[in-house]
Amino acid sequence: MRTAEVVIIGGGIVGSSIAYHLTAAGCKNVVVIERESSQGKGSTGKSMGGVRAQFSTPVNIQMSLYSIPFYAAFDQALGYPCGYRAQGYLFCATNAEHLAYLRTNFEKQVAMGLKDVRLVNAGEIRKLFPQVTNVDLEYAWYGSIGMTDTHLPRYHRLAPQVLSVSGYNGRGIAAGTVFGQMLAKLILKEIEECEMPLPCTGPQAAKFRSVRSLYYSLGSQIAHLADARLV
Ligand SMILES: Cc1cc2nc3c(=O)[nH]c(=O)nc-3n(C[C@H](O)[C@H](O)[C@H](O)COP(=O)(O)OP(=O)(O)OC[C@H]3O[C@@H](n4cnc5c(N)ncnc54)[C@H](O)[C@@H]3O)c2cc1C
Repeated sequence: MRTAEVVIIGGGIVGSSIAYHLTAAGCKNVVVIERESSQGKGSTGKSMGGVRAQFSTPVNIQMSLYSIPFYAAFDQALGYPCGYRAQGYLFCATNAEHLAYLRTNFEKQVAMGLKDVRLVNAGEIRKLFPQVTNVDLEYAWYGSIGMTDTHLPRYHRLAPQVLSVSGYNGRGIAAGTVFGQMLAKLILKEIEECEMPLPCTGPQAAKFRSVRSLYYSLGSQIAHLADARLV
């Protein structure tokens, strides 16, 4: 029978990050079990790979503050190109309410130490990105996404030696990388469970799941109908 010190199920960003951080810390006997023919065929390989810190929740902002420098130094640290390019994200507010939301997030991000984030007005956007003005959108993409009600990942201890983390709401590259690092530290007993970025909770079904699903799918259909009428 094959044995290992640590068995990781799933070779996406989370599993790969746990494996990397464990082996970087000297752990030699780590096995990643992946059901596909190679790693990264789940969400990770399908994602756009954007790592950003412009979030609204402090935990998500903080996790990105680790991952952005991690990917910026990836090629040198691992001797393998990851294709990271610091291009930035532009969020455009289309009404006063949305602008207020972005402004609050901006203030939170600056307070948490994010240095290269700024508010730009419409005039500056036109100068910075001339291609954004007078753009007629030809296509819009939308699809379903699984969401946690707190907009945060979930960390569970399923049994004394079995840990699980999931639920990134479509933004798991930066957060998943940090969770990999933190889980590696926890496994290596470098930190205590109370130092994890999120509390350990019992797995439980979402409350009022079918009502919420209906609410979101109806809401998105109404939004898409309104968009279609405007085109
Ligand atoms: C179109 C799209 C665009 C996205 N863009 C971004 C983005 O720009 N930035 C961002 O941060 N996030 C983005 N995301 C979200 C991001 O991809 C995910 O949050 C993240 O990849 C989740 O990583 P994971 O390791 O948890 O899961 P996965 O990458 O899905 O990895 C899980 C792995 O486990 C394997 N597995 C499952 N069950 C078993 C089993 N029983 N035995 C063995 N192996 C198993 C799967 O095959 C898979 O390889 C995007 C997602 C999509 C779909």
